Amino acid sequence: MRINELQSPAAASSWCAQQRASGKSVGFVPTMGALHAGHLSLVERALSENDVACVSVFVNPLQFDEATDLETYPRDWEGDAKRLGSVGCQMVFTGSLAQFFEGELESDGALAPERLLAPGRGALGLEGACRTGHFEGVATIVDRLFEVVHPDRAYFGQKDFQQTLVVEEVARRRGAPQIVVCPISREESGLARSSRNERLRPQERERAVCLSRGLSRASHRWQHGLRDLRSLEAEILAELEVAGVQVEYAAIRERSAWSPESPVEDLHDPVALVAARLGQVRLIDNHLLGEVPPHPASAFKGLEFSSRP
Ligand code: AMP
Repeated sequence: MRINELQSPAAASSWCAQQRASGKSVGFVPTMGALHAGHLSLVERALSENDVACVSVFVNPLQFDEATDLETYPRDWEGDAKRLGSVGCQMVFTGSLAQFFEGELESDGALAPERLLAPGRGALGLEGACRTGHFEGVATIVDRLFEVVHPDRAYFGQKDFQQTLVVEEVARRRGAPQIVVCPISREESGLARSSRNERLRPQERERAVCLSRGLSRASHRWQHGLRDLRSLEAEILAELEVAGVQVEYAAIRERSAWSPESPVEDLHDPVALVAARLGQVRLIDNHLLGEVPPHPASAFKGLEFSSRP
């Protein structure tokens, strides 16, 4: 069956209402398009847990803090619809900012700052500190998207770790939907899949593997008993420095108790997070240190992970 391609939130809203009226559960995957295998893994999960799945494709200007990033963000509506249709997704929709916030935009086409939603504690520090206003934009559009779709479940990637905290807060305030956080999909090299990877030059793409290598190094150290936060961060930085990328942060946080600053208590279930720039492209990645690292210990010649520190 062909995927329904809908060009407005109003059309999407009535399609979703029809599904619910016929007793079908709706799984929802919000995206900004230029879809890759990481996005499709969320869609496949949504299809496996719901009667139907729908996807939004909207490059949300509210969450961009850099004009060039917004302008150069890849867009491929036709390719996206084809990819989604091929995995069995039933509906994809888009819309303009004016359609999403009908009658709410000011004369200059912007949304009034007081209309933006507070994103909660998960937005504090790291990404929130580097990208002013980003999570306010995310919380505001995701809340609106939930209003349009009324999904039973909404699927987000762990790739955007702080975003998962922000959308969990949005869903908590609304009382729905259930938020499902899906694992990070990686290229064979370990590089986390991202629409922005397409803007990396071939050499930059090779160097970009340092993000997942740094996270892996910290993870191996953690799993062999290293508990000192600064030493774990230093393991990540060592890989980033070798590759010569511009580091924005390499930090450890407690997974289930988000703090804007480094936790001072003993670590229990840490997540390592990293952001770095290669040329014009800004990349992020993260890893739960207790889980299987993207790179095996054998990828780190000369480093000893087998003995306890
Ligand atoms: P985006 O289009 O970048 O806004 O991403 C849409 C959704 O896909 C978000 O929930 C992302 O976290 C998720 N996503 C992006 N990249 C990946 C990846 N490599 N693995 C898993 N999920 C991803």
